Amino acid sequence: MESKAFKIDELDKSIIEIIQKEPSLTHTEIARKVNRSQPTIGTRIRKLEKAGVLKFQAGINVKTMDLLLARVEIQTSKPDETVKLVKDCPHMLNAFRLSGTSNFSILVVSNKLAHLDEIVNHHFRKDPNVSDVYMDIITDVTNDLILPLDFNFENCSLTSNHECCGKCFA
Ligand SMILES: [Zn+2]
Ligand SMILES: [Zn+2]
Repeated sequence: MESKAFKIDELDKSIIEIIQKEPSLTHTEIARKVNRSQPTIGTRIRKLEKAGVLKFQAGINVKTMDLLLARVEIQTSKPDETVKLVKDCPHMLNAFRLSGTSNFSILVVSNKLAHLDEIVNHHFRKDPNVSDVYMDIITDVTNDLILPLDFNFENCSLTSNHECCGKCFA
C-alpha cells in the first residue's frame, strides 16, 4: 500500500480498538479504560479523524443482505478511467490496484446474476483498453463487511434504458 505517512502510536491503537468494539463510548469512558485524561482522548481522536485514519463508516452489512457480489479482475491500459468508473458507477463498490497479471480487482454488486454479467460485459469486456477480464462470484463473506451502497444500482436493468451511472447501457 502507498504510505500515507501518518504514524500512530500505542495509545492511538488502544483508542481505535476500543472505538471499533464500542463506537458509542464517550471520551470519558475511553479515558478511564486507557488511564489517560479525557482531554487527551479528545485531542487524539480529533487528530486521528483529521488525518483520515479513524473513520466512522455507516453502510450495509453485505454479509446479511441478499445481494450478488462479484470480484472482477481486469488488465487495463487506462487505469485512470477505471478509477473514475468505480467512483461513478453504483454497481462498483470499490477497486484495488494490483501488481501482477491483472492491474485491478473490482468489487461489483447487483441483485441479479444475469445483470452482473451484463454490467461486466458493458463496462469491461467491450472496452478496447481492457485486455483480460475474470469474474468470480463471491459465495460467502467471513466477517461482517460494512459498505456504503448507492441504491441506484437497483434501478439499472437490461429491459429498461435506465442509465444508472450515465454509462450503464447507454
Ligand atoms: Zn447500471
Ligand atoms: Zn455503470
